[in-house]
Amino acid sequence: MSASAPRVPLNVQLRASLREHNSFGLPAVAATLVRLASESDVKRVVDHPEYGRAPKLVLGGGSNLVLTGDFDGLVLHMAIAGKRVWREDDEAVYIEAGAGENWHEFVEWTLAHGYPGLENLSLIPGTVGAAPVQNIGAYGLEVGERLHSVTAWDFARQALFTLDRAACRFAYRDSLFKQEGWHLDGRVAIVSVVFRLPRNYRPNIGYADLRLELAERGIAEPGARDVADAVIAVRRRKLPDPAVTPNAGSFFHNPVVERTQADALLAAYPKLPHYPQADGRVKLAAGWLIEQAGWKGKNLGPVGMYEKQALVLVNRGGASGADVRATMAAVQAAVREKFAVDLSPEPVFL
Ligand SMILES: Cc1cc2nc3c(=O)[nH]c(=O)nc-3n(C[C@H](O)[C@H](O)[C@H](O)COP(=O)(O)OP(=O)(O)OC[C@H]3O[C@@H](n4cnc5c(N)ncnc54)[C@H](O)[C@@H]3O)c2cc1C
Repeated sequence: MSASAPRVPLNVQLRASLREHNSFGLPAVAATLVRLASESDVKRVVDHPEYGRAPKLVLGGGSNLVLTGDFDGLVLHMAIAGKRVWREDDEAVYIEAGAGENWHEFVEWTLAHGYPGLENLSLIPGTVGAAPVQNIGAYGLEVGERLHSVTAWDFARQALFTLDRAACRFAYRDSLFKQEGWHLDGRVAIVSVVFRLPRNYRPNIGYADLRLELAERGIAEPGARDVADAVIAVRRRKLPDPAVTPNAGSFFHNPVVERTQADALLAAYPKLPHYPQADGRVKLAAGWLIEQAGWKGKNLGPVGMYEKQALVLVNRGGASGADVRATMAAVQAAVREKFAVDLSPEPVFL
């Protein structure tokens, strides 16, 4: 996280395969792949006569990406490490972490050092730097709730900048970074994130699956470690391991519809899981809609929907980005036809 890393040559690979760099295992080649291990590496890319102006793709762990073709530009593989207590006060501990830190290992580190607050987000694949991009969320917590600030390079302005939590405009699986003109055109590389972990720790166990898992373990008053272990156990049961069955986690957003449409759907399908939102609209469970539309465990060519969790799209072997698109379109069409609801994909397409 400090800009004073030793001056070693940039780690550059030409015509680099990205297959190992995306959890779907999709084939794609980057014209140039640069591994950025420090903020000064980022600065050297900015100052480089060729790299500075090249089209860029910022890559973390590749667990939320659908690669649909080769990338004729510069892929910046974010590998900036480091984690430390940045500040402490009576109310909270502030922890800074480098963008390239593995997310789950970072959560484990916070717990091992006695800083609870992120445990509900255990075992989410990917990096610290990508966590704010789609405001990762699971088991009743979104990372935006624990975030203090984000520091990033803006390649357009050639400057480092810091945004506080409000400026990040976090929403459900969304943030400023996903907006037009930001990361999607490679404009911004997040280099570090500061988290705010409140001292008045209360376990967040509102989520039904989590409560059930803790009850089955006979734990009435869980600590942060208990919550993390329960989250990890539930996730291992429900979600495919990308190392065995390549996937990118939940593939579709849970759709949010108007109250009138939700009422009509609930009259026809009383079991439809639904969650009223603060703005009066209603969030529906995409996995349930996909299952009812007949797609749970169903394949189209080498791509299908996972048999244990219909929301997860999986590569059964040898799929391309075009195969992923074809299955996505078929699932969207089936859900639209049965429920008149549009599903939008969660991963980023490139
Ligand atoms: C099995 C599985 C389970 C999952 N479960 C969840 C879950 O429960 N909740 C959830 O929210 N997500 C989940 N995901 C999705 C994914 O893990 C998260 O979105 C994660 O934050 C992606 O991190 P990454 O480093 O792999 O990002 P990448 O896939 O490498 O990148 C994702 C996007 O972020 C951008 N990006 C990455 N790093 C940076 C950076 N440093 N600066 C700027 N932009 C950057 C990329 O350009 C890209 O647009 C799951 C995925 C899998 C495979």
